[in-house]
Amino acid sequence: MNDISGTDQSTLSRRTLLAGAAGGVAVVAAGQPAWAADATRPGSVRGPSLAVRDRLVVQGIRPSRALADLQVLSERIGPRIGGTAAEKAAAEFALTSLRSAGCSNPRLEPFAVADKFLADIGDPDGQLPDDICWQAGASPDAGLDGPTVTGNVVDVKAATAPAWPADAAAITGAIVLADDAQDATPATRVNLRAAFVLEAQRRGAAAVILLPADLEYPRRASAASLRLVPTTGTTAPPWTPVATIPVLGVAQVQKRLLREEIAVRPLRLSVTTTSHRGLTSNNVFADIPGRAGAAGPVVYISGHYDSVIGAPGANDDGSGTVLTLELARVLRKLPKTEATIRLALWGSEEQGLIGSRYHVAQLSSAERGRIAGVFQNDMVGTSWSPATRYWVLSFSGTGNATTDQVTAAAQRLGYDPQISPVTQRGASDHQSFQEVGIASANFSWRGEATPALLEPPYHSPEDTIEKNISMDRLTVSMEMIGCAAYALAH
Ligand SMILES: [Zn+2]
Repeated sequence: MNDISGTDQSTLSRRTLLAGAAGGVAVVAAGQPAWAADATRPGSVRGPSLAVRDRLVVQGIRPSRALADLQVLSERIGPRIGGTAAEKAAAEFALTSLRSAGCSNPRLEPFAVADKFLADIGDPDGQLPDDICWQAGASPDAGLDGPTVTGNVVDVKAATAPAWPADAAAITGAIVLADDAQDATPATRVNLRAAFVLEAQRRGAAAVILLPADLEYPRRASAASLRLVPTTGTTAPPWTPVATIPVLGVAQVQKRLLREEIAVRPLRLSVTTTSHRGLTSNNVFADIPGRAGAAGPVVYISGHYDSVIGAPGANDDGSGTVLTLELARVLRKLPKTEATIRLALWGSEEQGLIGSRYHVAQLSSAERGRIAGVFQNDMVGTSWSPATRYWVLSFSGTGNATTDQVTAAAQRLGYDPQISPVTQRGASDHQSFQEVGIASANFSWRGEATPALLEPPYHSPEDTIEKNISMDRLTVSMEMIGCAAYALAH
């Protein structure tokens, strides 16, 4: 009794779905539960004592399906920047998955978002590691949408005190690398950056790649679309470009790999920039109707499916997205609940909770009043060893129906010491609901000491399945939220 069709597959070939995990590589058995319902869970210190309903939920969960979904999102689609074609492809994938799960009324909720400016770094001679993403940010104040430029890399060190090579010809057609201006106020920093870029352009550079300062461990700097003019953040396009050559902002790990390579041998890169304007992002929804009907209570299970520039977003928040899709498949087949269960995936969370705030703003007060709870899942499967605590994060800092249910479910699953008390923290889509008094919280594996302790691959090209996903932690997250939401919906 498993989902494998055909009889000629060896046990070994059925067990080839691999994913990183704390302490090693996990093997996920295709079409099988991760463990027996009554087994002691990884990282827990006691066995479970499950309710009848819990048992139905945990026996239905298939980690192999969640991993396959995560491969589509983080590997086939990759970075999913709000409003871009990649984000739309992820929305369509989620919509199709919810439809296939048999959920009712799969639908998109579109909303407008700001322009985006992206770059791709190519490696024509195949010198750089290809197990991380080489997307970067493009400056909106510099060259965009031109032909791909290819050139030798010249590192001039600090942008504020560049070491230009004695041979001026070395810069002609080169891709110039420099540490971004740092030691100044934000406005001065932008002016120093612009002066450097214009000097590189005057000397004949084909493109500039600016390198971020290293952050303090475990933080690592993200890629960014760097500005060359001071802004208040409200400047509307179109801008007058400061420079005509492309200017890229890379992530800390990309900086390290570029400098490691040029320390050993010459490097050629190609650079492509693209502007994305007039954008629409989407929330994705589907329902499992409850006995109480359309006027009855609604329980949301949610995550956000977008990611930041350069980040494949395996844990942030591919993990919450695939949790939502897998629980759709599981809960759809269980005995009906009183409440409708709504699967919700937010677009453009990373741009400031735009999708969830838009959704909440569209709801009538009657619709808001019917929401019994919103279980938000943002970063629920990191393999970072120190992330041993499952955090219960409330924007208001106080508990509600969702925190009560998850705490109780965690205790039934044997996760007493690992689950945090209700802790004040916003910065994910639960905040949009709690801002208007709707019961919600965000649930996430993070460092023991504080929920601010996030894994090093966070918002980075290293947020991949291989480098940042534990299928054990992701599976436990699915169990906790599945049991909690199913209980609240009864
Ligand atoms: Zn996130």
